[in-house]
Amino acid sequence: MSFDKLGLSPELLKAVAKQGYTIPTPIQEQAIPLVLAGSDMLASAQTGTGKTASFTLPILHILSKIEIKGRRQPRALILTPTRELAAQVSNNLRSYAQFTNLRSTVIYGGVNQNPQVKALQQGQDIVIATPGRLLDLYNQRHLSLKSISMFVLDEADRMLDMGFLGDIQKIISLMPAQRQNLMFSATFSGEIKKLTKDILNNPATVDVSPPNSTVESISQMGYRVDKSKKKDLLVHLINDQNWNQALVFCRTKHGANNLSEKIDSLGITSVAIHGNKSQGARTKALADFKRNKVRILVATDIAARGLDIPLLPHVVNFDLPNIPEDYVHRIGRTGRAGADGVAISFVSPDEKNYLRSIERLIDFSIPLEELEGFYTPKKPSKKVIARGEGKSVRKSTSSGSSSSSRGYKGKTTSKETAVAKPKDRKPKKRWY
Ligand code: AMP
Repeated sequence: MSFDKLGLSPELLKAVAKQGYTIPTPIQEQAIPLVLAGSDMLASAQTGTGKTASFTLPILHILSKIEIKGRRQPRALILTPTRELAAQVSNNLRSYAQFTNLRSTVIYGGVNQNPQVKALQQGQDIVIATPGRLLDLYNQRHLSLKSISMFVLDEADRMLDMGFLGDIQKIISLMPAQRQNLMFSATFSGEIKKLTKDILNNPATVDVSPPNSTVESISQMGYRVDKSKKKDLLVHLINDQNWNQALVFCRTKHGANNLSEKIDSLGITSVAIHGNKSQGARTKALADFKRNKVRILVATDIAARGLDIPLLPHVVNFDLPNIPEDYVHRIGRTGRAGADGVAISFVSPDEKNYLRSIERLIDFSIPLEELEGFYTPKKPSKKVIARGEGKSVRKSTSSGSSSSSRGYKGKTTSKETAVAKPKDRKPKKRWY
């Protein structure tokens, strides 16, 4: 199917073509006609599937058909959980809107509010916002939500994880009851289902990926590793496999800073991004990473959502997330828009319960390997085979490491990573 079959205006089709998009992604193909028809919608779509265009394009189409009388008031509100996602949705929306006469602005905390207030005073059609700053500006009477006719709750599951339920309910109470509602979530807990009932009115459902599944184009594997050897393993993989760009997730801000500083001191350019950094520093770090000025971006989960880094080849779970859903979101940073990507998890013995929860959620057994020198099994393991010993030695061009895999039959060298995609499901036999 091509974009011109979806019923979008010529101005939007021109913008889409300028972006270089030729065919709609599955979520766009399904969602755009539904939204254009005026339906409420509940969509299960992961980041990387093209979901932003699936709601921004029909919103722009609908709003551009309605004549503006008097001063512009926001008519569409898009709520996102993080500043990065808000900024990204805003950037996408602006490029799609470039041939229309619609105006949009983005509102989030952590930066001076004055430019945001000024933009609101100029009159806007669409506001993209994080909940806290939106309510802040509302309470200061800098905006009205009385004209909102289209409302999007993006990454609703993350909103709840971040404790925004109260803010969302308050924001909903400030909008007219008569409006079109679109809700996106990558995962579906009982709480999300309840929120769905509160917000959506007879919604059409769009499901481009089974809930809690991981994107097919992402290959997943892991290394058993001693906790104290994780940094060395990361440095080894970066150098040995010559990674150009990797996003590395740590559980804590302190851990992220520490890791980033250490690898940077070894000559591998790196920067950390987390909630304690100023918005300016976060934006700069992301921009430097995107421009390949830094090779390794070390992030906490706050940064896991909303990062759109095209063709990111590697995501590393340096620490496994304690919330299994975060695994799905983290690895969604790779394999975007159909491109292949590899998600690598470092699993230390104290993290086996986290691994088990993740595997249960995604219904997939992540193949694990060991690299010699980075893992000390409790009992001597026959599986760690020294270089030059035995039949199962892998050809390795690297110095000092050989690998062995369990739960995975493919051959690997240390230059290539043994990976499995979710469709290659394996029996769940683990070492724990
Ligand atoms: P999203 O899931 O909205 O974050 O989009 C992920 C990436 O896919 C972004 O870099 C978009 O620019 C890109 N994208 C969105 N729609 C298409 C499309 N139809 N064809 C190619 N790339 C797209």
